[in-house]
Amino acid sequence: MTEFYEQVRDRFLRYVRVDTQSQAGSDTAPSTMKQKDLGVILRDELISLGVQNVTMSDECCVYGTIPSNLPENAGKSVGFIAHMDTTPDASGTDVKPWILKNYQGGDILLNAEKDIIMKNEEYPNLNKYIGQDLVFTDGTTLLGGDDKAAVAAIMTMAEYFCKHPEVPHGPIQVGFTPDEEVGRGTENFDIERFGADIAYTLDGDALGGMCYETFNGEEAQLVIKGLSVHPGTAYKIMKNAVEIGGEFMSMLPAFERPQNTRGREGYYHPFVFEGTVEKTFVRCLVRDHERDLFENRKTYIEKCVDQLNETYGEGTVTLTWVNQYFSMREAVKKVPYMIDYARQAMRDCGVEPFEIAMRGGTDGSWLSQKGLPCPNITAGYENAHGRFEYASIQAMEKNVEILIRLLKIFAENA
Ligand SMILES: [Zn+2]
Repeated sequence: MTEFYEQVRDRFLRYVRVDTQSQAGSDTAPSTMKQKDLGVILRDELISLGVQNVTMSDECCVYGTIPSNLPENAGKSVGFIAHMDTTPDASGTDVKPWILKNYQGGDILLNAEKDIIMKNEEYPNLNKYIGQDLVFTDGTTLLGGDDKAAVAAIMTMAEYFCKHPEVPHGPIQVGFTPDEEVGRGTENFDIERFGADIAYTLDGDALGGMCYETFNGEEAQLVIKGLSVHPGTAYKIMKNAVEIGGEFMSMLPAFERPQNTRGREGYYHPFVFEGTVEKTFVRCLVRDHERDLFENRKTYIEKCVDQLNETYGEGTVTLTWVNQYFSMREAVKKVPYMIDYARQAMRDCGVEPFEIAMRGGTDGSWLSQKGLPCPNITAGYENAHGRFEYASIQAMEKNVEILIRLLKIFAENA
């Protein structure tokens, strides 16, 4: 056990008790004001540790800096980002964390009164944590390991460097963001204010995971204009937008749906279809890891639309592309050492790294696109977004070691 065990444990238990559930569809920033309760705690804690230039913005982004102690302030400015909100998918109110020490396998009784049992056979990931100390809930709320396990690890890393000025390191930037779970995590994140040259988000389950590749994505929105007349007198007049929408759907390849693809395979995903004979609206996601395949998919949709307009008359179908993002791979490719160093840090700490090609985007995809290369490394929690979420204290402790080792590698190479 290292000095970090108790530090990271106590922090984690404090943070998860604060309700920070975000809310989709809210028009405020942050989406829920209660996230600021944790924002203030984190801001004050950074200040008390001796982290400098600490602020919390009105939108609940918390920033802080540990300046370089290398000669001439050398070194790349390395950022670490974690989100403080929890998902709207499960309650985050009145979380009651408790610790099962030295887990020996088998089922876990989360709540005797309500007879809530976590079955080992339903959650075989428990077997990875035999002998470790695990934090569970009472089975009525989520835990919030996603992403407070990462918040606690980053904070404990910050404490280490503040307490050990003799350990050489370059500039370190710390960032905590709201609203990641509702897709607005970077909406108000000020990259310039943050001040990092490169950064890592910490999020996702079992330790060792590294993600620097995400989907390229965009959404096609089709507005289909029909012409409605009484069906009794529709002969050669009616143009049925519902049927034209259906025709569009039938053009999409059946094997390239989310439910029929995995790994690095892309897809088309129509997810809204609503309308009448007069007007029908279709929304369809297009996703692919490979940039050229992604562009091919978009071209295919455009061809489908052209074809329909040819058949039903120019202007029948209008296509708009929205919500575009690109894989962070392009941005990270320019700074390959980020991945090499992270891999090395994990190995040095006895964790075997593995790579994840994310079938989605991350906050890091947006930041990378805006100019801050930002791969993700996992945070060490399990079963996120539900009542059976748990986190290992040893995993969080290990994560602190990895972050410290990573920063030492950066310093050695400065
Ligand atoms: Zn998360």
